[in-house]
Amino acid sequence: MKDALIVENLTFSYDGLRVLNGVSFSVEDGNFISVLGPNGSGKSTLIKLISKVLKSYKGKIIVKGRDIKHLNEKDVARLVAVVPQYTTPGFDFSVDEFVMMGRYPYWKRFGIQSRKDLKIVEDVMERTRITSFCHRKFNELSGGEKQRVVIAQALAQDTPVLLLDEPTAHLDINFQIELMDLFYRLNTVEGKTIIGVFHDINLAVQYSKKILLLRDGKVFGFGDAKSVINRDNIRKVFNSEVCVGKNPFTGNLYVSPIFTTSLYNNSRDEEGKSKNKQGKKLKIHVIGGGGAASPILTLLYSSGYEKLSCGVVNILDSDLETSKVLGIPYVSEAPFSPISFSSQNQNLEFIKISDIVILPDIEFGHGNFSNLVAVKEALDLGKKVIILDARSVEERDYTQGKAVKLYSKIIEKGARVISSVKELLEALEE
Ligand code: ADP
Ligand code: MG
Repeated sequence: MKDALIVENLTFSYDGLRVLNGVSFSVEDGNFISVLGPNGSGKSTLIKLISKVLKSYKGKIIVKGRDIKHLNEKDVARLVAVVPQYTTPGFDFSVDEFVMMGRYPYWKRFGIQSRKDLKIVEDVMERTRITSFCHRKFNELSGGEKQRVVIAQALAQDTPVLLLDEPTAHLDINFQIELMDLFYRLNTVEGKTIIGVFHDINLAVQYSKKILLLRDGKVFGFGDAKSVINRDNIRKVFNSEVCVGKNPFTGNLYVSPIFTTSLYNNSRDEEGKSKNKQGKKLKIHVIGGGGAASPILTLLYSSGYEKLSCGVVNILDSDLETSKVLGIPYVSEAPFSPISFSSQNQNLEFIKISDIVILPDIEFGHGNFSNLVAVKEALDLGKKVIILDARSVEERDYTQGKAVKLYSKIIEKGARVISSVKELLEALEE
């Protein structure tokens, strides 16, 4: 059999609201496809239909040669497993109990476990590196640990097809990479067919073989990244301006945001010239990380601020790509490595010559904690500091509270806090 999944003319509505409209595509055995599209384009609905969580659809869904319309829940669960974005189990399961639940499609009577079940559970716990905490309660784990346990459960289902619905969306970059590496291995080493929804185009491109681009419940593009991901398609589907370049390390294509259309319209007049002339001379340093600085850099740039700098950002981070595209000087660090003393010092040099330092709502881990220290230094040096606090810092803190503490101190010391990028231009001029 060649195709692991065939979706034919799939149409689905929620109470009269059409969400998928004539979707057709097929996925060969052992392929890894990424589903990309803006919020509300129907990605999660598609995943729920393929796993038969949603049922009253028109069209055909064939998994491993079998039309799932005619299969019961257990049959489907032996063909496809799903890793969702969030899981909140109704019971207070321990980790190993939770993983064991993945074996239910094979049970004749509920909860009767075989030696094979135990063996498989042990094995998947090893592979997802959760054995060491297998007796802890699921609900007490960190976000990253929970997600590994959820993946272990999906693997325990022992299915040829694995569906992912933004499985890494709320994890910090290190966990994201770790999980993506795991999916990559499952695909390349074990031959699992993977269909994943991802929120990060670059992660998707780096790990998957094909891209399915959805817009308004329809297939906008389907094929390898080169044929689907281009500036025109991204503008049409995501309504944002990007630059598509090449990742210097992998040779894969790489997407860097240039600016969002809405910000662009706010900050430029018809001829595309800068409206905001008086701010031009201000020297502004933007702390980078995880792409959070990109919308800020592009807004400042398109608003006519020319003396910009960015740091410390890891190589491969889209903030670095944005800096390069815009010709903004930056301080960089090796990919996925903690900030070194020398990078930290260079960053401080930029801060010393700046008038204003901006801290976007980046995530804080031990690796980039010194970026936060640099912001504190900026305040101590008497610089104006503006903090974008769009997401609560508790959600972004992977340092066991260390970052939250310093962050509060920085605010206490007089940093100006704004809650959206839109407030930035005004805050600069105060
Ligand atoms: P995506 O995952 O691409 O963000 P979804 O598949 O979750 O999109 O949703 C597509 C559309 O369907 C959205 O307009 C959303 O509001 C709507 N929708 C999703 N789930 C439901 C539901 N249970 N009931 C009604 N409408 C829903
Ligand atoms: Mg979704």
